[in-house]
Parts: sequence; structure tokens; C-alpha cells
Amino acid sequence: MSAATQRAGWSRLPLRAAAFVVLTCATILGVSGWREWAARDAVVRGAETEMANVARSLTQHAEDSLDLLDFGVVGVVSRLEMDGTGPTTIAKLGTLLDVRKKAIARIHSFDIIDDQGNWLTSPGTVGSTLSDDAFFRHHQLSPKREAYVGRPVKSLLDGEWVVPLSRRFNKQDGSFGGVVLATISSRYLSHFYEQFEIGRNSSVTLTHRDGMILAHNPGNEKFVGRSVADTPFFHEPSLQRPSGAYHFKSPVDGAERVSFFNRSSRFPLLLVATVDKDELLAPWRATAISRMLYVLALVMLIAVIGGVLVRQLQRGQRMAVALAEKEAHFRLLAEGSSDMVTRIGLDERLRYVSPSSVRVVGWRPNQLIGTPALAGINPEDLPEVQAIVDAMKRGEKEEARLIYRNSHRQNGEIWLESTMQVTRNDNGRIDGVVAISRDISEHKKLETRLETLAIEDSLTGLANRRRFDEGLKEEWARAYRDRSSLALLMIDVDHFKAYNDEYGHPAGDACLRRIAKIIAAETQRAGDLAVRYGGEEFAVLLPNIDAAGCARVGERIRSAIREAGLVHGSNLAAGCVTASVGGATCRPVLERTAGVASLVEAADRALYAAKDAGRDRLVMSGEVMNLLPKASGE
Ligand code: GH3
Ligand code: MG
Ligand code: MG
Repeated sequence: MSAATQRAGWSRLPLRAAAFVVLTCATILGVSGWREWAARDAVVRGAETEMANVARSLTQHAEDSLDLLDFGVVGVVSRLEMDGTGPTTIAKLGTLLDVRKKAIARIHSFDIIDDQGNWLTSPGTVGSTLSDDAFFRHHQLSPKREAYVGRPVKSLLDGEWVVPLSRRFNKQDGSFGGVVLATISSRYLSHFYEQFEIGRNSSVTLTHRDGMILAHNPGNEKFVGRSVADTPFFHEPSLQRPSGAYHFKSPVDGAERVSFFNRSSRFPLLLVATVDKDELLAPWRATAISRMLYVLALVMLIAVIGGVLVRQLQRGQRMAVALAEKEAHFRLLAEGSSDMVTRIGLDERLRYVSPSSVRVVGWRPNQLIGTPALAGINPEDLPEVQAIVDAMKRGEKEEARLIYRNSHRQNGEIWLESTMQVTRNDNGRIDGVVAISRDISEHKKLETRLETLAIEDSLTGLANRRRFDEGLKEEWARAYRDRSSLALLMIDVDHFKAYNDEYGHPAGDACLRRIAKIIAAETQRAGDLAVRYGGEEFAVLLPNIDAAGCARVGERIRSAIREAGLVHGSNLAAGCVTASVGGATCRPVLERTAGVASLVEAADRALYAAKDAGRDRLVMSGEVMNLLPKASGE
């Protein structure tokens, strides 16, 4: 997998996690909502069944009440048809009807009316006629013998609303004889409906087929006698069935309501039980709200935890990306650098080696990783490096810069300069050392060359005057310390101006180089220092040698120069290049007043003496010799 793909995968991960959290929350909410809706439906369905039963029972009750009334009416009708409407019969029947009326609570009145509409019973109402009443006119005009349930009327006896049930009776000749009328109190019915607890905003209404209210609960007095013929129950085709439910919004208060209706199959009656939907669903709503609150709390908890996890995931990703970038930067630096970057563990083995190791030490990283880090170091430099590494491991040193010799796979030995830095783990404990090493062999070579240039005479390759001055001081101090002697030879080429004049300056230079070689060859002893003192003048410092030894070396040099046979036409005495040599020795420990300069002066004087004496000769400085105490024997 490429880094880009991986990064893209990483960035999608929190998005997926967030989507999962959202989906989970939505699913929980959806399932809970659906379950609550199903519960609501069940409540509505249960209520529908219950209310349908109530409507059916109340219809049945109304039918039973009318049946009870009709039963009495039928009996009276048959007695009247058999016995006629004579005063005796009416009196007997009046008594019987009174008894029955008292015995059966729901019977409000029981009366016999003659063919003119006059009351034959109920003396309190004598004088009034019912000839214009709808039920009377119905029986008068229709030969039908069935019971007739009329619209509610106000009782003439006590002004109470009553529902009349009547039957016609015939005279012996079959003509209209009158009507037997029984009534049920509308209040009785409404009281009866009160027993059914169907809710505060609910009602039960019993109406006549033509829409007039026969009984109503609650508020019977207010509604009875009113017409509701304009409501859908009386004209809407879909509601003209025997029973059913009708959902509607109340035009009065805007509340959702549902009516359960039932039509009597035997009487012209319609019973409507109406319930308030809000009230019906109130218990369900209360539990549903509390349940949904729990669900919402759960969903919010999931959302919060999910949100926190998603943010942690994002933070983790950002850190991982930053870490990867940091590592990439580090690798770029370590692997792109020409310096060799190594990581050394506490066991002093290499844990990481950058690819530039191939260039710096000639080994590939995989050949070095796991091997001892200090293995290639020159044994002479190793103790110093080891001591520093040990100090760093102990925490005594945080960083160090070292220069040491190290073996190279192909190039023998190289000089390395390493910058070392202690590394620590997350707990702050030292876990190793990082070393950045570079090959400074070229630099070292240059340094050595510069050092050489500083003390070497460029023409002859001998030490220069500066080196001579240092050497003289060092040897003087050493001779003083060791109570040994120190000798100096000053050598000056004879008539060299003339040589230059005759053979040219380049030839003069070549001649000086030859002479330098001869002097160097004659001073091979360790500690001897041959220098070009200046111009065509040389000096040889001879430590730990007596005057005789010094004279021997001086004489050897002088004769070697002459024997070299370098042609010098202007040097008339010899015909070749010659040199004059002045020698001087001393024992610094025995010197009282004189210092290094005295030795040079003495040798110089001896040289001039040699020049004066005719050149091409050695003169030892007697004067200097004279400074030495007789006790030394020198
Ligand atoms: P004497 O025998 O008394 O020493 O005579 P001389 O000519 O050697 O002495 P003098 O001091 O008069 O001359 C020294 C000459 O050495 C002068 C100069 O041209 C020559 N000389 C000094 N340094 C160099 C050098 O580096 N190269 C060459 N070619 N000549 C040099
Ligand atoms: Mg000279
Ligand atoms: Mg000279």
C-alpha cells in the first residue's frame, strides 16, 4: 500500500466511524419511533374495539328499553281491542299501568289516547289533545300495527324530555281506536350513559333516525331535542352502514375526535359514542414520551461517546501523520546527508547506519548494523573514544566532538570527525548515542601540509628558520635538563653571489637544493636538525654531541659539498662550489649568563673566522669553548 493510499484510508476512517455513530443513532431513533407508532396504533385499535362494543351495548340497551316499553304497550293494546275503551276497562288499565310505571324505573309514562287524541288516562292532562302530534297522526293515518318510536317531546305532565313509543289499537270494527303511548325519560338514558367512563371530552348521543337527539351525555338538557341531521352520519354515503368509526376534527375546538356509531336494526335509532383522540392517546403519549426520553438520552450518550472516539481517532491520525512526516524528514536528513549518521545502543552496537556509510567507511548499512560501533577505530585513538562514549552512557556528558582514525574497507585508514549526542527514551533515560561522522582525511592532510609549510623551507625542503628557532629553544631546554651538550654548525656557501651572477638565479636555486641534500645526508642522527638559515646559509643543530663530534660532522659536510664537484668558475681557489663552516658547542647547564643566542653568535663568529681564513674550511669557536669550566674537561 502506498503512503498516499494509506493516508487516504486513514482520513476516511474517522468519517466512517462518524457515519457508523450517526447510523446507529438514527437506527435506534427510527426503531424506537416505529415501535412507539405501532404502540399508538395498537392503542387506537384497542380503543376502537372497546368503543365499538360500548356503542353496540348502548344500542342494545336502548332497544331493550324500548322492547320493555313495547311489551307493556302490546299488552294494553290487546286488552283495549278485546274489552273496548269503556270507563271500567280504562280504570283497570290505568291502575295496572300505574303499577307497572312505578315498578319499572325507565318508564316515564304509560297512557291511552282515544281516536280524537284525548287522554283516557293521566287525569292531570285532561283537556289537552294530542291530535296534532306526529305519533298520533302517524297511527291515525297508517293502518300498520307496529310500534312507532317518535321524536323526543317535552312531557305534558312534568315538562321532562321523553322518547315516545306508541302503538295503534283498533275498534271492534277495525277502525282506528286510539293510541297506547309509553315514554322513556331522556334523562334516564343519559344517566345510564354516565356509568360508562369513556373520558372527559367524550360523549354518548342517542338520536332519532331523522337526526333529533334523544339523549346525550354529558349535558343532556342542553342537547336533547336538537337536530344533528346536518352531521355526516345522516348524509355521508360511507357512513350509512350499520356500524363503524368516523374520525374527524371538531369544528368547535379543533380537537381530533373519533366517533363510533351503531344503528339499531329494529328501531329508528342511531347511537354515537365520541372520544377525544388526545385523551384516548394520553396514557400512551405519557409512556411513549418517557420511553423516548430514555432513548434520546441513550442516543445522545452514544453520540457524545462516538464523537469523542471520532475526535480521538482524528487526533491519533494527525499524530501518526506528523510522526510519519517527522520520520520522513529525519530519514531525508540522515539518508540525504553526505555525513554518516549512526545510532549506537547502550551495548555499543550499531542500531542504525545511514546509506552514506558506503562513502565514508566503505561498508553498506546492512553490513554494519548490529556490529560493535567502535570496532574500526585505530587502537591508539580507541581509549579516548571509549572513555567519551562511557561518559555519555553514564550521563556525564551530553555531547562530544571527536577526531580519530578509523579503518576504511578499501582505503586503509581515514580520519573521522564525529559529533556525538546522547539520546533518551520517552522516560528520559539514556538509550544510546547518535553520531554524525564525516571523513576529514583530506582536511587532515591539508592541515599536516600547512603545518609542514609553516616549518619547512620551500626551496630546499629542510626546516626553515622558524623551526630552527623553536628547535634551538627545545634542544637548549632539553640539554639543560639532561645536563648534556648542544652543538651548532653554521654553513655559508662561498662566493655564491658570483655563482648567481655567472649561472643565473635558477641554477643558484638548484645548487642550494643540492647542498641542502648533502647537509641532510650528513645529519642522519635522531635529533639532528638541518635548516636553511637564510639565503645561502645553512645551520645544523646537533644535540648531545661534544666539540670533536661537532667538528667531525662539520668537516664531513664541508668536504661532501666540495666533493660534490658543483662547478663554480668564479670560486677561483677551488673551481667548484665550496662552503665555509663555523662550529660551536656548549653545555647549557654550565652557562651562567649566556642563552641560546650565545651559541648562534659563537658559531657565526667561527663562520666568519673561516671566511676570513680563506673559505672552504671549518673553524670551531674557541671563544665559546672557553666559556666552559675547566672542571668539565671540555
Ligand atoms: P661569501 O663567500 O663572503 O659568502 O660571498 P657571497 O657572495 O656568498 O656572500 P654575499 O652575502 O655577498 O652573497 C650572498 C648571495 O647569495 C647573494 C644572493 O644573490 C645569493 N642568494 C641568497 N639567497 C639565494 C637564493 O635563494 N637563491 C639564489 N639563487 N641565490 C641566493
Ligand atoms: Mg652569506
Ligand atoms: Mg656566501
